[in-house]
Amino acid sequence: MENGRKALVTGGAGFLGSHLVRALLADGWQVAAMDSLLTGNTDNIDEFAGNPSFEFIKHDVTEPYDGPWNLIANLACPASPPRYQADPVHTWETSVLGALNAARLARKNGATLFHASTSEVYGDPEIHPQTESYWGHVNCNGVRSCYDEGKRAAETLLADFRRQYGLDVRMVRFFNTYGPAMDPEDGRVVTNMIIAALRGRDIPVYGDGTQTRSFQYASDAIEAVMRLIRKPREEIDAFCAAKKLSVPVFNIGNPGEFTINELADLVLREIPGTGSKTVNMPLPGDDPKRRRPDISLAGELLGWKPVVPLSEGLPRTIEYFKAKCL
Ligand code: UDP
Repeated sequence: MENGRKALVTGGAGFLGSHLVRALLADGWQVAAMDSLLTGNTDNIDEFAGNPSFEFIKHDVTEPYDGPWNLIANLACPASPPRYQADPVHTWETSVLGALNAARLARKNGATLFHASTSEVYGDPEIHPQTESYWGHVNCNGVRSCYDEGKRAAETLLADFRRQYGLDVRMVRFFNTYGPAMDPEDGRVVTNMIIAALRGRDIPVYGDGTQTRSFQYASDAIEAVMRLIRKPREEIDAFCAAKKLSVPVFNIGNPGEFTINELADLVLREIPGTGSKTVNMPLPGDDPKRRRPDISLAGELLGWKPVVPLSEGLPRTIEYFKAKCL
């Protein structure tokens, strides 16, 4: 993998994709960012224009593509519920056909394939916190299924590419992640609450706000990904064998767990004097009640743990949105 160090990041103009592009460039890779710009935004990659190690390719990963990369990092997919539900058929195609196209090219090139999966593969979990060995509790035909089942099918496919063809597949399941480069209009809870408070509008709390999420700051997620990418394959294979893991897939998140009401209180505390107040709105369909990652496996393999608590990441994110949106 060190030979040539040419990386493709699909979803490279997106939130986490653009952070990964930056980290790979800093690590000495030549990086191509591929994005359809459906939910990604060139604002996130403008800073790399003119860098001879960077190129942008506008392309939708549902269609096959080709190139000389020896690392393919597959992050392309809308990830916010309103965005992925806006065109659910295309979301499923992005997840599944996107994984298939990435896997076929990685196989042809003998490349490493890093794939971004999600805590959504656990659905509305019946065990808490969620470990990688938990198979999940997922509705296969509800409003969130295009994303949840799409991501599950992608994991299935990539696990089989590894078993059947020996492909070097490395997957993570990101839990809710936030930070600079998020789309202010993406409709997720952190962005919705910050933007509402900054504009002095009501802060939307869906349902009674007692549902929980665990919020991870973007730099913590990217640090874990870079450690996983840098690991020699033999070490990953030996770790999987020792732990009896059928495929390398690791929870990446911050175990700090907050109710949505607590998050709203924190936002109001960080943006005082806005005049905003919380307002309860209907809970969307199949909204998971609790979510918290067990990150022991990633901790052991990568020597990684998140270091930015919500109390630090939230103010940094608020500063970003103040500069971008006010
Ligand atoms: N949510 C909320 N207000 C919003 C957006 C979301 O209360 O403006 C809730 C949503 O119902 C869910 C949680 O916050 O329980 C996280 O939602 P998000 O869309 O960020 O991601 P999810 O984890 O549901 O995919």
